[in-house]
Amino acid sequence: MVKICCIGAGYVGGPTMAMIAYKCPDIQVVVVDISVPRITAWNSDRLPIFEPGLDEVVKSCRNTNLFFSSDVEAHIADSDIIFVSVNTPTKTRGLGAGKAADLTYWESAARMIADVAKSDKIVVEKSTVPVKTAEAIEKILNHNSRDGVNFQILSNPEFLAEGTAINDLTNPDRVLIGGRQTPEGQKAVAVLKGVYAKWVPEDRIITTNLWSAELSKLAANAILAQRISSINAMSALCEATGANVAEVAYAVGKDTRIGPKFLNASVGFGGSCFQKDILNLVYICECNGLTEVANYWRQVVQINDYQKLRFVNRVVSSMFNTVSGKKILVLGFAFKKDTGDTRETPAIDVCLGLLGDKAKLSIYDPQVSEDQIRRDLAMNKFDWDHPQHLVPSSPTANSKEMVTVTFDAYEAAKGAHGICIMTEWDEFKSLDYQRIYDGMEKPAFVFDGRNVVNVEELRKIGFVVYSIGKPLDA
Ligand code: NAD
Repeated sequence: MVKICCIGAGYVGGPTMAMIAYKCPDIQVVVVDISVPRITAWNSDRLPIFEPGLDEVVKSCRNTNLFFSSDVEAHIADSDIIFVSVNTPTKTRGLGAGKAADLTYWESAARMIADVAKSDKIVVEKSTVPVKTAEAIEKILNHNSRDGVNFQILSNPEFLAEGTAINDLTNPDRVLIGGRQTPEGQKAVAVLKGVYAKWVPEDRIITTNLWSAELSKLAANAILAQRISSINAMSALCEATGANVAEVAYAVGKDTRIGPKFLNASVGFGGSCFQKDILNLVYICECNGLTEVANYWRQVVQINDYQKLRFVNRVVSSMFNTVSGKKILVLGFAFKKDTGDTRETPAIDVCLGLLGDKAKLSIYDPQVSEDQIRRDLAMNKFDWDHPQHLVPSSPTANSKEMVTVTFDAYEAAKGAHGICIMTEWDEFKSLDYQRIYDGMEKPAFVFDGRNVVNVEELRKIGFVVYSIGKPLDA
């Protein structure tokens, strides 16, 4: 029986390994993590992450051929293939701070593998890493391993999107495997290809050299985020001219060379990956002397920051240039629907911007806990002069007086002056907006950061509605 171990039981390691175990009953999969609470949650009825369909997949094979353990070293030693799916956040200090990927977790995982491996291993980069990381990993493994133990490094970046992870893993657009162009490297590629081939059609499994695979992941995220920033940049021009961004996106997306996906204007992209991966790309370009290319990609992040700033400014200016003491209902806090993940969610920046003008916020999200919301608002403060840098906020900004977290949107709307929609949860489309309107101060404002509400219907009720990139109320 082939044995797989995955280091890192997060948003990627958990679902990807569950899918391999589910599709390959003849493979034993153990997911390990240094976080004991995370492993405990994976072994419980309440999984540590919310992802539609994940519960069923995990529960169908857990403790049969899928295991979660905090005994990291023992399972590394016992495995043939080791995926590494640890976090690779942006460095916060030292060389490359604010841009470069922090590979501390990766390095310590690699050192642990070298330390405990007594037999040959295939080590798979599942985390998103800078191009050429495999070279560094090879050095760490080869300099620290026991005599006679060989490692083959593969790059197998993950393209799943949170909220649709199970579908993405079941029917991936492609699986990408990069390896060394040596007989040993190609043998390792064939072994990993054999795992995915159990359910992924052969023509969707792409094999490349190591550097192409590593760079493709950064390139894919940069280009996806670039589409969002492109349509968001257009949304500003639409608002200035009376064009409607939904109509523009539809017309543009009908061009088969462009296509309709990822053209929804919004308050901005969030999530743990887009910003960090583009900043990393910027850093790599700079390190290679490609200043103009770095500047090009940096703009994608700057437009995203500008979009959040524009949104906050729109809220404040619409509400007579101040939100001080005004109650604002914030609908949604996760960075997108169908996930409880709040990493880099635009809601943080928008909430902090509004708190900066002393608004009173009532926040509702179906999947994000009060603890998480308070942690996020306490950790970060939007620095409008340098929007990509988050700095610690003052403790008072997140006091219970300024921020309440609610689980009843109707109750929370009572006495509110405005509503900001931050996440495109389906349930926000079908709220009884007449009931909400009746309880609000007048004029009652809706600022739709995800373009989910029916603007005409809400205007008929009496709301003043701002929807990104759409003509404003007369
Ligand atoms: P995550 O923070 O949810 O999970 C990472 C886990 O690794 C954590 O639980 C952490 O405790 C664990 N870990 C760190 N060092 C460890 C060590 N030495 N030993 C054992 N466990 C260790 O991160 P994530 O969202 O799963 O992302 C992981 C990687 O995948 C990142 O590089 C990310 O860029 C990439 N990625 C993420 C997504 C996504 O949608 N979240 C999609 C594609 C790729």
